[in-house]
Amino acid sequence: MTENVEFVDVLVVGAGLAGIGSACQLRRTMPELSLAILEARAVSGGTWDLFRYPGIRSDSDMYTYSYGFKPWTDKSAIADGDSILNYIREAADEYDLNQHIRYNHKVVSAHWCSQDKLWTVTVVRSDGEEQLAIRCRFILSCTGYYDYKQGYTPEFDGIDDFQGEIVHPQFWPEQLDYKDKRVVVIGSGATAVTLIPSMANDTASLVMLQRSPTYIANVPAEDPWLKPLSKFMPSSWVFRSIRWKKVLLQQYIYRLSRKKPRGLRRYLLNQVREELGPDYDVDTHFTPNYNPWDQRLCAVPDGDMFAAIREGKAEVVTDHIDHFNSSGIALKSGNQLDADIVVIATGLKLKFGGDIAFRIDGEEVDPTERFVYRGMMLEGVPNLAMSVGYTNSSWTLKTDLTAKYVCGLLKKMKRGGYSSVIPTLSGEMKEVPLLDFDAGYVLRARDIMPKNGDRKPWKNNDSYTKDYASLEFNRNKYSELEFR
Ligand SMILES: Cc1cc2nc3c(=O)[nH]c(=O)nc-3n(C[C@H](O)[C@H](O)[C@H](O)COP(=O)(O)OP(=O)(O)OC[C@H]3O[C@@H](n4cnc5c(N)ncnc54)[C@H](O)[C@@H]3O)c2cc1C
Repeated sequence: MTENVEFVDVLVVGAGLAGIGSACQLRRTMPELSLAILEARAVSGGTWDLFRYPGIRSDSDMYTYSYGFKPWTDKSAIADGDSILNYIREAADEYDLNQHIRYNHKVVSAHWCSQDKLWTVTVVRSDGEEQLAIRCRFILSCTGYYDYKQGYTPEFDGIDDFQGEIVHPQFWPEQLDYKDKRVVVIGSGATAVTLIPSMANDTASLVMLQRSPTYIANVPAEDPWLKPLSKFMPSSWVFRSIRWKKVLLQQYIYRLSRKKPRGLRRYLLNQVREELGPDYDVDTHFTPNYNPWDQRLCAVPDGDMFAAIREGKAEVVTDHIDHFNSSGIALKSGNQLDADIVVIATGLKLKFGGDIAFRIDGEEVDPTERFVYRGMMLEGVPNLAMSVGYTNSSWTLKTDLTAKYVCGLLKKMKRGGYSSVIPTLSGEMKEVPLLDFDAGYVLRARDIMPKNGDRKPWKNNDSYTKDYASLEFNRNKYSELEFR
């Protein structure tokens, strides 16, 4: 079988933001390696192609959410979905990746053979059910972190009785007409706070129905450093300066939220009070019962969501759903919300590793039983890295670092004539929670995530500056890796 099987040096799985960025870095630093990018869908872009709800945008600033090697030159710090998709595809064009991407190729399993020191990857063509195999030396898995086929929907009693339309933001119907309709958006996360301002001008009524409030930060749509710096610096320097400012600010705010949460809480709530005025019930609708960054903090550019509320085009209802009925939602308070359309913006269904079944010499690999090495490799699993971004900061900051580290690893293997590299635990280690983060989707994922150790390099840093130092400048950056 193996003789006719195609071979590549590096296989990247997934052509989303992380997969394309990683493949660009591979082309930049190791153009001599053969490369294939396998993508289950018919197009690239991942998240930024899949989600099509009105107003879709980043809630991270684009200076840190863009790739470090491709400056974000647009004026807006928060970008809409199409601009992000264009940016990803532009990067793919710049590095001539399209010739390496195989669309409709879903990786279902990967089998490592210790004798050959190679992976054999089984792929199912999603456009025809044909199955094929590809062999490779190294797999860089960039499959994202959620299920593309279904979102997370809590169980709601009586949902089938509802006569109106139910919509999930992950599957927004292209033709959905919400003009002059009564719309209820269930949820209080990034998606809900994006939908509210973008639908508010068209709907007859618009309610954001939340069980409990989320911290919402008002951020400037354009970075205040952009204009002054642009007067005397080239755009690439401007990008780098603002990127580092944002990185340090993000880290400072995150540390502050851990060490002095009360001050940060006061600051965020004062922002909301300023936006909504003294008569608005901020305590009920915008004051969470946890500290900032215990769950992901939402950002709204130039306070657009607050403007929709202030202008009476949208309202926030904080209550619990008792059940759905034919005309809408009956709340536990006894109130009723009538609706023509209900949007269930309650989040994502998490999935780890793109549903790929990994085996080593015939034995199944259970990721939940293994420790993670430097937030990217699995204990005892050769020649495999998984690119997963930050939850408390921009996703791409970590996926960029991961790709760079993998390039360094491949260079070292080439120089040393090694055919495999295996994260190998030396001594005992205790398990500690992977993320110090209570967001619903993170809590729901605890049973599917690999184990986090209590010491370096097996402990997840969750900090860009720490990772930057340890992955780029640390002389021991390959400690506890066994090269063969
Ligand atoms: C609406 C929305 C907004 C977001 N905004 C932000 C933000 O502002 N800031 C932030 O930091 N994060 C944000 N995130 C998180 C976001 O998912 C990441 O930032 C980023 O887009 C993930 O990129 P990725 O390439 O890792 O994964 P994805 O975008 O999910 O791409 C993964 C790709 O891998 C493919 N794939 C998966 N499994 C397989 C397989 N077995 N075989 C072949 N191909 C496979 C998928 O089809 C997909 O194309 C947001 C998420 C959502 C849903």
